[in-house]
Amino acid sequence: MTDINQRLQKLKAEGKTVIGCFPLYPPLELFFAMDLVPVVLWGLRGEVGSTLQSDKHLQSYTCSVARHLTEFVLTKGLDLLDGVFMYNACDTLRNLPEILETGLSQGNARLPLIKIHIPMVRPDQTDASGYFKNEIRRLIRALEAEFNVSFSGDKFVDAAEKINRVRQLMALAEQKVAEGSLSFLSFCQIIHECGFSSIDEQTRILESLVAQQTDPPLSGNGQRPGVILSGILPPPASVINDMESAGLRVVGNDIASLGRTYAGAPAVIEDPEAYLLDFYHHHYPCPTLLYTGDRRAALLMEMAQKTRARGVIFVGEKFCEYEYFEFPYLKKRLNQMGVKTLELEISVEEDAHTAGHRSRIEAFAEMLATTS
Ligand code: SF4
Repeated sequence: MTDINQRLQKLKAEGKTVIGCFPLYPPLELFFAMDLVPVVLWGLRGEVGSTLQSDKHLQSYTCSVARHLTEFVLTKGLDLLDGVFMYNACDTLRNLPEILETGLSQGNARLPLIKIHIPMVRPDQTDASGYFKNEIRRLIRALEAEFNVSFSGDKFVDAAEKINRVRQLMALAEQKVAEGSLSFLSFCQIIHECGFSSIDEQTRILESLVAQQTDPPLSGNGQRPGVILSGILPPPASVINDMESAGLRVVGNDIASLGRTYAGAPAVIEDPEAYLLDFYHHHYPCPTLLYTGDRRAALLMEMAQKTRARGVIFVGEKFCEYEYFEFPYLKKRLNQMGVKTLELEISVEEDAHTAGHRSRIEAFAEMLATTS
């Protein structure tokens, strides 16, 4: 079952309390430890059909991520979610809770919205740990009051260990993509499916995935030029198919909803405040966590070296200035080390019209195949 609506209906039928979360790196361990099921409202382009309701509240120059998640919450949130959690990231998301509240209140409906603020300052420059820990305490109290649940250190340790296991399994599955025994498209679909599942279900799906030969091996895998994909979301299925048909092999990913999500995890401890402080301070770099920016270029170049990627394809989310501001510098540094780059742009309108990317991908693949 890959349909997200069905997966959410199943969770609700099992009596689970489902919390829709954004942006991409919510404290999953904390929610699971409190018997809540967090689902990250990302990658919903295939789930909502249109952006009719969202378009009444958001400008047309906001990214597809925000438009799709707004449409999802406004049209399906009351049926499929029990609450919404968010922390601050970009300017687009900053006022989204109020926009969602307004949109939902027009139908006299109520969906609890819980917000925390993560200080976007470099820990070695400004110590905001006291503020952050207070935000976590406030979050725990809000969840307890809103959903009649309680926090325990034992359950937190258990949830953190399970989530870390899930992250490790995702990294192993990514390795299968690089080896050619799992297509990148299947990988993206399975990781997306996991994001809308209970923690035990995620473990079951991923353990079975890494234990078996999933897809027939890609022909001539070793000869295919390796590329890294970088962006907020993986490209649409048609674009992934174009990449694989053009003879490219995805050997690494710097995609926010994929690699940046499961790359690394803190040592498990019982104290959620200290654990989550560690989690956010040392998170894999992402433009949505502003204070990680200075580490980003070095890590991307390290990934290129380690995977021997010949190219990096930037999958630009149209109107996401956070990602776009960094592309010129990243491209310059990668080109200096001999790694070629290609920039694609994906928008709401282009979701169904991606054929224009095909010839650029084919030309890029041809160039990589003839250079070493
Ligand atoms: S894609 Fe960019 S602009 Fe859109 S919600 Fe994410 S960080 Fe914000």
